[in-house]
Amino acid sequence: MNIYQFTREKLQLKLQELGEKPYRATQIFEWVYKKSARNFFEMTNISKSSQELLNEHFVFPKLHLEKEQISKDGTRKYLFRLHDGNLIETVLMRFHYGNSVCISTQVGCNMGCAFCASGQHKRIRNLDVYEMVLQVYTINEILKKEDSRVSHVVIMGIGEPFDNYNNTIDFIKIINDDKGLGIGARHITLSTSGIVPKIIEFSHLPLQINLAISLHFPNDKLRSKYMPVNRKYNLEKLFDALKYYYEMTNRRITFEYILIDGINDTKECCIELINLLRGMNCYVNLIPMNETNTMFRRSSEKATDEFYDLLMQKGINVTLRRDQGHDIDAACGQLRIKTEMANARKNC
Ligand code: SF4
Repeated sequence: MNIYQFTREKLQLKLQELGEKPYRATQIFEWVYKKSARNFFEMTNISKSSQELLNEHFVFPKLHLEKEQISKDGTRKYLFRLHDGNLIETVLMRFHYGNSVCISTQVGCNMGCAFCASGQHKRIRNLDVYEMVLQVYTINEILKKEDSRVSHVVIMGIGEPFDNYNNTIDFIKIINDDKGLGIGARHITLSTSGIVPKIIEFSHLPLQINLAISLHFPNDKLRSKYMPVNRKYNLEKLFDALKYYYEMTNRRITFEYILIDGINDTKECCIELINLLRGMNCYVNLIPMNETNTMFRRSSEKATDEFYDLLMQKGINVTLRRDQGHDIDAACGQLRIKTEMANARKNC
């Protein structure tokens, strides 16, 4: 069994099955996540016989670092190779308020968003809980050597987290656990393209984490054209679910909006967006497009400023995301696909 796969609650149950005391789960969590122990024999408050028993049943795997890219602005992109040879990306972004890690939840993605590098390649498989935990753990270990730590986690990398729901929720519980990585719930943001039944389910979780919606288009015509998820869960269904989420949690919702030249950055689109969000406790995060193919272009500075200004004038809380890692393969999935293509060419 894989030690990073377990929430503390599940580890307690597993230890009881093995004839161990449940409080060992807390001891093990502290050793693993706080003191970076990589085997049971380092855990000096656990008896020799228990160390041996645990050692027979659990392993401490690692992610293999295939490639690292460092941007001029300090953003670092890590390409990890998994045990079965698949590649995933994790991004570390440095902000004045801390270090934020953006993790992947799947190898590839089935949602097919037309503007996304990952969406052009189908999902190969879901990530296991431990593969998500190790993305954060590994970067935290790198930062520890620099006297720093991961303070924020955004679940916005390759994959749709609600298409890998149970594993994603266990991952959140582990990183949020104060005996684990101890990342505050308010410092964790999950972003979904809009899988309505899972938004409802998520509303009932007693976790104070932030919800972001990859909205990107303000009407069904455009959204269904470029985001197939909208054909199943259109804006009416999505916004009904979000109203329910708000009633249940009272938490502000973030809307992600990638500005694409001539497609969703017009004044008409901006007005539609304002009408859609009117009266909601939310804010909009405008994102400059990372150009990964020839179909879509980044909005001009003028169009971006006008869009931003109009939202502000109409009282919508809006931020314009700082362009991060633009000099490396910054778009989600870009480095993974580039490396896989290069490897395939080598094998030809
Ligand atoms: S934007 Fe997100 S949900 Fe859409 S294809 Fe890309 S990874 Fe999947």
